[in-house]
Amino acid sequence: MAYGPAPENAADAMSFLDAHKRKFELFIGGKWQKPSSGEYYDSTNPSNKKNLAKISEANTADVDKAVAAANKALPKWVEIGAHSRARYLYALARQVQKNARLFTVLESLDNGKPIRETRDIDIPLVARHFYHHAGWAQIRDTDPELREYKELGVVGQIIPWNFPLLMLSWKIAPALAMGNTVVLKPAEDTSLTALLFADICQQIGLPDGVVNIITGHGSTGAALVEHKDVQKIAFTGSTNVGKIIRRATAGTGKKISLELGGKSPFIVFEDADLDSVVEGIVNAIWFNQGQVCCAGSRLLVQESIAEKLYSKIRARMENMRMGNALDKCIDIGAIVSPGQLKIIEDLVKTGVEEGGSLWQPTSWDCPTEGCFYPPTLFTDIAPSATLAQEEIFGPVLVAMSFRTHQEAVKLANNTRYGLASSIWTENINLALDIAPKIKAGVVWTNCTNVFDAAAGFGGYRESGFGREGGKEGLFEYIKPRIEELFSDKPFTKAVSTTKKTTDSDSNIPTIDRTAKMYYGGKQARPDGGYSTKINSSSGDYIGEVSTGNRKDIRNAVEAAHKGKGWAGKTGHARAQVLYYIAENLIQRKEEFANRICLMTNQNKTSALQEVEQSVDRIYTYAALADKYDGRVHHTVTSNVTIAMPEPIGVMGIVCPDESPLLGFISTVIPAISMGNNVIVVPSQTAPFSATDFYQILETSDVPAGVVNIITGGKDELAQVLAKHDDVDGLWYFGSQQGSEAIERLSADNMKRTWVNYGKYRNWSDKAQGEGEGFLRRASQIKNIWIPYGV
Ligand code: NDP
Repeated sequence: MAYGPAPENAADAMSFLDAHKRKFELFIGGKWQKPSSGEYYDSTNPSNKKNLAKISEANTADVDKAVAAANKALPKWVEIGAHSRARYLYALARQVQKNARLFTVLESLDNGKPIRETRDIDIPLVARHFYHHAGWAQIRDTDPELREYKELGVVGQIIPWNFPLLMLSWKIAPALAMGNTVVLKPAEDTSLTALLFADICQQIGLPDGVVNIITGHGSTGAALVEHKDVQKIAFTGSTNVGKIIRRATAGTGKKISLELGGKSPFIVFEDADLDSVVEGIVNAIWFNQGQVCCAGSRLLVQESIAEKLYSKIRARMENMRMGNALDKCIDIGAIVSPGQLKIIEDLVKTGVEEGGSLWQPTSWDCPTEGCFYPPTLFTDIAPSATLAQEEIFGPVLVAMSFRTHQEAVKLANNTRYGLASSIWTENINLALDIAPKIKAGVVWTNCTNVFDAAAGFGGYRESGFGREGGKEGLFEYIKPRIEELFSDKPFTKAVSTTKKTTDSDSNIPTIDRTAKMYYGGKQARPDGGYSTKINSSSGDYIGEVSTGNRKDIRNAVEAAHKGKGWAGKTGHARAQVLYYIAENLIQRKEEFANRICLMTNQNKTSALQEVEQSVDRIYTYAALADKYDGRVHHTVTSNVTIAMPEPIGVMGIVCPDESPLLGFISTVIPAISMGNNVIVVPSQTAPFSATDFYQILETSDVPAGVVNIITGGKDELAQVLAKHDDVDGLWYFGSQQGSEAIERLSADNMKRTWVNYGKYRNWSDKAQGEGEGFLRRASQIKNIWIPYGV
């Protein structure tokens, strides 16, 4: 039996376009305004290439206007309070629901995606996002954690074309809920539902300027990124543009969250239910024509069942229906634009040239009038092939096989990305064993492409950083109130009135040896053989430390990667080691205090206090090591969704120069308490607290490779760490220029960075120097979805 077409009626969507005379202006300060450039471009329907409307091109003058409008609206938006903001968000949710059909049709017309998907997935999720965040808005000032944070200000948001309205809701809902105002730029190819959303903002009486929508090309986005009054950029799109944004905002203090590309593995073990797997694959790679950042585009299948699965997939592909997006009977719609179609065609050509075996359905042909590309399966693909590594962003599945579980994990992680993954097996033990081993922000077990406002979404590695959705996503739109206490100058400590170059109190001689460096659990001489003289703060020579260079950092990074077991230890096991460190440190309290006096001219009482505070701080992180845990999110589908904090991996820590012991402890200990292995560059001016610490590490059961210490020129070493591709995260406490360099240089592998922009915190103040904020920076959330039901 053949299905006939079942087209949805587009009359309401056409009336909406006609109401704007098929020519859209910019939505700034609550009003429609002509673009300063006077330029417009066409928005077309990819199902038939016909023009739908003209869209304004915003230039820098328009960006200025929109940011000014958002800035003007900000104080009142903050002042009206949590409950009023919650009411507006609720009104937006209701209005999206009431206009669901109009949004659905308009989205499918503009983007080419099947109406079944916009109707059943995109638009309901949009409404859900506004509802969920109406709730966060309501409790924002009473939640014990959130109330310690404040809004950022004006937020610039740049979204792609693959889920136009859904991405808008992922951006706008949390930003408004946390008290920010926004300027949003939709993708040039798919602006229409954002413009309809602007109408909705007017209808509910959202205060003018709280939401501004400016349309345009990449240059409009770039102007928004560079605007000095924008406090944060939230971006979803390609990894290349993500890197441009990281570099452009370096050193400005603008917060950024980047949700970038992916090459997500879809792993099928031999005991999986293959019929469910086939439907899972349809959902993984043919949902939205494969134009999905988390598409399961790499099929990894256990060798014993590979051929059987491939033939089932081919049979299913023969039965897929492709056509006009408004036809309710189709499975696959149109590719968004001729440009994207060309990218897909070129990559497929490369795949064939590199020896891949291409298979496409033979029983039906693509429609000819729009931008269509058939579902495609590639086999005989090497793990290093272009198609196995590059994001295609089209309906192209690339299949490879594996023999052992270990090989499956290796293949899955053989990518620069880390957005999502999907594991198929009937064995829950196997699924939960594999899930933590995959380097990705989302793991779906026996399901795929499931989303919800209550669960965070976002990547590892070059898939970007930051989360959208869930409580974890809110932190992208707020900043700690405590930052207001940070200073342009270091906090001073009580100074000794007696000048001394030796420590007569404890009979410790002046440091006349050259302290070595420390990596892989051993002390090591510097590669260059040089040492650096260290003077006290009053200028007296007190000793020498090794001058580390690029090679020393490289060795330390290698050592850190070899120290593998630490991340896998339980929080309790890590806490035991931290307590042991504290125990050994307190025993040598006098000696550490004397060194501090020698280096900083602090008085003895203050130095002893610094050691005591360091021990106290180690206790805090030992306490939190098994208490800073995740959540089980209340998602709307039948899933247990576990949000699990995982270590970042190998991290560089560039310590503050001041508070030589407490600054070292306050940064290194939270990072290792979360299971990271670290390469530490200690205080450049007062490094001996860190070099004395080697003996503590050696006697406290800290496994080799967990803490590695390289002394020397702080900024030079920091920049080597920033450029190193095998370093996953980097904290830097130094100058403004140093901070700028770290953010700029870290863009190549999208490191998670945390810098202080030259501001000082008082490390002795617990509110500034310790707490869960440090652990949040030392970990990233993985969401594991486990469906239930029979
Ligand atoms: P882009 O990353 O170029 O576009 C995403 C958004 O950023 C759009 O609004 C775009 O505007 C804007 N933009 C482009 N350049 C800049 C810039 N320099 N500064 C600020 N904003 C900018 O993605 P494309 O649309 O070009 O798609 C290219 C590839 O990116 C795809 O083939 C796919 O691999 C990947 N991609 C990934 C997505 C994801 O969800 N992770 C989504 C979309 C694409 P404009 O639309 O005018 O170009």
